[in-house]
Amino acid sequence: MTEKLYDLNSYVTECDAKVLSCEKAKKNGIEGFAVSLSQTCFFPEGGGQPADVGTITAGNESVRVLYTYEQGEDIFHLCDKTLEVGIQVHAAIDFAPRFANMQIHSGEHILSGVILKEMGLHNVGFHMGHEFNTIDLDGEITPQQARELEAKVNAIICENRPVFVSYPDKETLPTIPLRKKPEVEKLRVVEVQDCDWCGCCGTHVAHTGEIGLLKILDVQRYKGGTRVTFLCGAAALADCSDKCQNLKNICVSLSCKPQEAFSNVEKLKAELAEKKQALAAKNRQLFSLLAKQLCENAEAFGSDKLVFLMDNTLSADDLKAFAAQIAANEKTVGTLFSQQNDTISYALCRAKDADCDLRALSQHLNKSLNGKGGGNQELCCGKLPVYSEEKIHQTITEFLL
Ligand SMILES: [Zn+2]
Repeated sequence: MTEKLYDLNSYVTECDAKVLSCEKAKKNGIEGFAVSLSQTCFFPEGGGQPADVGTITAGNESVRVLYTYEQGEDIFHLCDKTLEVGIQVHAAIDFAPRFANMQIHSGEHILSGVILKEMGLHNVGFHMGHEFNTIDLDGEITPQQARELEAKVNAIICENRPVFVSYPDKETLPTIPLRKKPEVEKLRVVEVQDCDWCGCCGTHVAHTGEIGLLKILDVQRYKGGTRVTFLCGAAALADCSDKCQNLKNICVSLSCKPQEAFSNVEKLKAELAEKKQALAAKNRQLFSLLAKQLCENAEAFGSDKLVFLMDNTLSADDLKAFAAQIAANEKTVGTLFSQQNDTISYALCRAKDADCDLRALSQHLNKSLNGKGGGNQELCCGKLPVYSEEKIHQTITEFLL
């Protein structure tokens, strides 16, 4: 059995211990040596909180602890090297990531306690991730409500309330207003003074002020409830700083104040949509004139006339708009191409009175030139790999002849 020094004091970062066992093992996808010690300050993964990592030193040798897990009454340290059973060692956790975990875990308790008190909703899932942390609620909250809850949580953080860890006896336990009560024999209760009482195995800060800041980043509907994404401490500050800098860059670019950035972007989007519409109208006029000119000079194939055009300035949408104008000319078959990077887009069209089987022409092009696409007898669109204009022209005329 390992004595768990982290259990009543989260701030024990190193300790001396005796190696009780060492065996080859693979856990959590990591291969190494599972070492058990007589006592440890390493927290094993549990209750949503990730495992501690760190170092175990024996004389001049040290091994890295890559993962920590609990099995029965023992804590196992998955190490990158083996350790001799029976020797004395010194174990030390990497405190920076552990403290960040303590900030997040205590922040999560306060957030869950405040949400239960203010909204009557329960935390039904907690996850600490590499980038974000989430809690899942059994009901919906709006972004505005999330903002108000966040303010209440940060007020409690500012008040620097004490956080207590205890194992209450059978008489005391029923008097505690527990938010969550895991089914265990000896319940460990974490209390944030006058805010939250919760059965929990994790490591916590001693005072709420150490959390620094809790920032809710997002609330999303999730499985009939809400998923709340949040950050705590230095990670929350870094995220706010990055977003402030991004907003500042946008404001410099738009020459506006931060409060005006959103309305200015909306205005720009509306202007862009209007300009696109105007450009499309001008293009239709231009394509109509060009189509007439091309049809006058078109090659005759049987009773149909072929318009062949390769113009790399045309987008895929332009090709379709141009095709519509060509199809308005009697007895015409239009074949339009435009190359962008390593792809050629095509649009095939025909006048209502033309004889050409347009879909068959599209299939012939795809088959002969490794293309993809299709459509109906009025319009077929697709893509080809890069071929010369001559090769494409030849492929079309061999079909029409
Ligand atoms: Zn907890």
